[in-house]
Order: sequence, then structure tokens, then C-alpha cells
Amino acid sequence: MDANKRRVDQLLSDKWKINREIEQIQAECKHSKQVIKQVADTTSSSFRHVCESCGHPLGYLSPEQAKEFLEKS
Ligand SMILES: [Zn+2]
Repeated sequence: MDANKRRVDQLLSDKWKINREIEQIQAECKHSKQVIKQVADTTSSSFRHVCESCGHPLGYLSPEQAKEFLEKS
């Protein structure tokens, strides 16, 4: 097998394990502390509430909340 393919297979397998572990942590987390984070996706970036501990997205900010956040920062 070629070396790149072996490396990619290994990385994909690691990635799967890492994602599973993150999902597990997020599933068990109580999300007790929320922080606001700017999250970029393919078309734009938006502000979201995420759990400070595990990074799980908890919801979007309303336009008013986003404005308030921007004014404070
Ligand atoms: Zn959490």
C-alpha cells in the first residue's frame, strides 16, 4: 500500500475516534456555562452561544444580543 494512503487511512481513523470522543464529552456535559463565540461557516460568520466547557453549540444570538456583544467587546 502506498505510504500516503496508509497515512490518510490512519488520520481518518484517528479523526473518527476524536469526533466520537468529543460527541461523548458533549453528550455527558451539563453545558452549565455559556460563552459567546463567533463561528465562521462557508458563507458567513455568526455569533453563537456555545458551552464553554465542551464547545457544544447552544443557539444563535438574536440580532439585539449580537449588537450588544459587539458594543461591549
Ligand atoms: Zn457542554
